[in-house]
Amino acid sequence: MDGPRVTDLYRLLPEEMDALVADLGERHYRADQLLHALYHGFPAVLDEVSVLPAAFRARLAAAGYTVDTPAEVRRQTSADGQTAKLLLRLIDGTLVESVLMQYDGGEGRHPRSTVCVSTQAGCAMGCVFCATGQMGFARNLRAEEIVAQVVSAARLLRGRGEHVTNVVFMGMGEPLANYAETIRAVRLLTHPRAFGLAQRAVTVSTVGVVRAIDRLAQEGLQLGLAISLHAPDNALRQRLVPTAGPHSVAELIAAAKRYGATTGRRVTFEYALIAGVNDGENQARALAALLRGQGAHVNLIPVNPTAGGYRRPPRARVLAFERVLRQGGVNVTVRVEKGTEIAAACGQLRTDATRAVPSAEQAAGERATAGQHRLAEHHAEADGDRRAEVEPGVHVAANHR
Ligand code: SF4
Repeated sequence: MDGPRVTDLYRLLPEEMDALVADLGERHYRADQLLHALYHGFPAVLDEVSVLPAAFRARLAAAGYTVDTPAEVRRQTSADGQTAKLLLRLIDGTLVESVLMQYDGGEGRHPRSTVCVSTQAGCAMGCVFCATGQMGFARNLRAEEIVAQVVSAARLLRGRGEHVTNVVFMGMGEPLANYAETIRAVRLLTHPRAFGLAQRAVTVSTVGVVRAIDRLAQEGLQLGLAISLHAPDNALRQRLVPTAGPHSVAELIAAAKRYGATTGRRVTFEYALIAGVNDGENQARALAALLRGQGAHVNLIPVNPTAGGYRRPPRARVLAFERVLRQGGVNVTVRVEKGTEIAAACGQLRTDATRAVPSAEQAAGERATAGQHRLAEHHAEADGDRRAEVEPGVHVAANHR
């Protein structure tokens, strides 16, 4: 027999919160109080929403509404302190990872705190160079479980007097394969009465579900879109992204063009560079020929170490690939990785049940040490000025790409 139906209050859009409050016979301002408490106070449980009278909290609970914050079971922090990977346990015991990346502002720029969220536990897409892809698929995450990852990071930042500035849907899973929950999460994160991020501060990444890209373009949202391409031809792409299905490279590029035309947002193509597989200059020329004149942007991501045995190309080869694209008239950046030493970089997220999960006390003190620690920074060349740049549109922590 099913138990009583329970709804997490973080699931409700502000309009739904208004309706709930009205249904329970309360005045409208209670909805605003509740939303403000959720998205500014970040309560772990409903009883922490102390701005509401205890009697109203009890009525909410009796009506089946709750706040179920995931438990943080492990936190790994890079040596420079700028990248933190959070392992969260959801209410049913499912483990998911998300990554918080902080970037110094640099000259004339604001500092950024970007959260890379997972949309699925595991992933069914099976990209051969991706640790998540090798885990297989467990389940879709609900919108409130996606939002909870951002709230967890926001809670962590609040202790330092900082806040979340960007969210990228680039963690575990294919966001557009969990379309409805992804969109609900986006609306919660960008609604001015909820988390309140600017739509342009949110980027959704996809391995390329053409129909869903077209649907996303019609949502009336100003989201960044990143498409994981990884190959300039269909045969190689099929090898690297075995479940890419019938969509050809040309179809993906056409979908990106339609998205850009409808939303006015530039689309980024992610290209994971793998030594001896897709890093040849001929392949760079083929890619340039495909993208020239489209206003597209390419992020080159030297692939991260995972169990798949794929290697990143030597630096000189990466730069040669970049040069060919640039000479071919394509905007390009090379990502400088953050979080590799804590396996928080692209393609490294994996909630391996066999890994020891430390206690919360251990987690709080756990810090990674050696290795690289740049996950999502990019080298950008603009006006001849070479600088490190963090793009919200990049497959950062993730996996994708
Ligand atoms: S790269 Fe993205 S789409 Fe591919 S297997 Fe990994 S998480 Fe899934």
